[in-house]
Amino acid sequence: MKFSYKLLLSTIIVMALALGFSGFYFVNYVFETSLEREVGQAMDESSILSFAFETAALNVPTRYNVLPDSTVEEIASNLETGGQSARRLLRISDEEKNVLYVSDGFAANEALLGQTDEETKLYRVIVSGEKYYIHTSVMVNVLDRILYLETMRDVSEVFTQRQLGFSLYRRVTLIMLLIGTVIMHLIASFLTKPIRLLTRATKRMAEGDYAYRARQVSRDELGQLTRAFNYMANALEQNIEKLEEEIDAKEEFMGAFAHELKTPLTAIIGYADMLRSHKLDEEKSFMSANYIYTEGKRLEAMSLRLLDIIVTGKNEAVLHRVPAEEIFGYLEELYADRKDVEIRFSYDAQELMVEVNLIKTVLVNLIDNACKASEEGGVIEVSGYIAEEGYCFAVRDYGIGIPQKELHKITKAFYMVDKSRARSKNGAGLGLALCAEILKIHHSELGIESTEGEGSCFWFVLPIAGEDVQTEKGVQ
Ligand code: ADP
Repeated sequence: MKFSYKLLLSTIIVMALALGFSGFYFVNYVFETSLEREVGQAMDESSILSFAFETAALNVPTRYNVLPDSTVEEIASNLETGGQSARRLLRISDEEKNVLYVSDGFAANEALLGQTDEETKLYRVIVSGEKYYIHTSVMVNVLDRILYLETMRDVSEVFTQRQLGFSLYRRVTLIMLLIGTVIMHLIASFLTKPIRLLTRATKRMAEGDYAYRARQVSRDELGQLTRAFNYMANALEQNIEKLEEEIDAKEEFMGAFAHELKTPLTAIIGYADMLRSHKLDEEKSFMSANYIYTEGKRLEAMSLRLLDIIVTGKNEAVLHRVPAEEIFGYLEELYADRKDVEIRFSYDAQELMVEVNLIKTVLVNLIDNACKASEEGGVIEVSGYIAEEGYCFAVRDYGIGIPQKELHKITKAFYMVDKSRARSKNGAGLGLALCAEILKIHHSELGIESTEGEGSCFWFVLPIAGEDVQTEKGVQ
């Protein structure tokens, strides 16, 4: 059953109970008050009649203060009409409870009479035919006689009013329930609107429409739930996008990898086939074997680089306090014999928090790339200086440069701007990918500025070792 129907049904049940009980209580209260008033009037009438009877009996001239039955009957008859058009219903009985006078239509039995004595005035409600009466009984002590005066007062109107009250209330309850049902239906569907919108959103998302969001129509708890749901949907959409990007990158990587394998393998297979199926002279045999050797070496270097990238990405960097001088000293020594280009080093002395071998690998890759991009005799500037955010390393060359549209791609694995030039210089497009991976685990990234034909500058910033920094620190 729908939640809005449950809400509607429970409200109708509560409304029906509330209206039913309050109606019953109200009508009954009115009835009991009216009946009490009628009882009071009946008892007053009974007192007045007994007083009138005593007065009349005392005023009748009697001998020896005796009240004969005939006089009783006469007085009773007079009291019955009482000078009014409406007749009273009364009954007078003697000491032995024998009836001396009774009005026509006086239908009460003798039950009340049996309980009446000097002190008690009694009444009860009786039903005769379709009518209701208040039956009273009182003892009258006059002259030498003890008599019993009973009256009957018609109170059918009070009971009829009660019946009318009940039926009116039933109708009012029904109408109220009908109107209440319509209003509650509107309220329930208004209140449950956020739930319906949320349900629709979950269905749409389950069908693959991750951009679909539930509309927030209220600020209450359900509104907050909608906001939380949309927040979750945003996070989910971003994660899915990220996953899709990762899958695309993996596919791209696999494609490039297969392609990079194919070229050296084709050469190796071709030359190996030539060696085994033809009798080649010594020079050609050497050339073929050399080709196989160089391409094999290239494959080996590529697989080592790939391994480096994978291992670096999975490991944590263990940071040490290392003076910048140590890194630059190593580089100066490494490139001391290089004659084809002029490498200039300049740096600020400073202790850094780095994994030194990895940072050396980055710088060597950047300097090698700068060498490959430079002309014979070109200048390469390798610098290290203290900047606002940390210690900045920069490698600048004045070589071929990189086209603007290629800049964002060059850190991708196997990406080479000029493939034949890169391959001829033993490149496989993996150096910068490795650099990016190493800098990532140092919480840094590679900055690149380049102008085609004018040269490039590659830079990155590393943390400076503070006073309080421990000598060894693991970084995710
Ligand atoms: P490779 O092994 O080919 O050098 P890298 O990942 O180091 O691979 O570099 C990717 C590509 O970026 C290179 O093939 C080259 O086209 C370009 N590149 C990198 N450094 C420079 C530079 N300093 N000047 C011009 N092009 C560069």
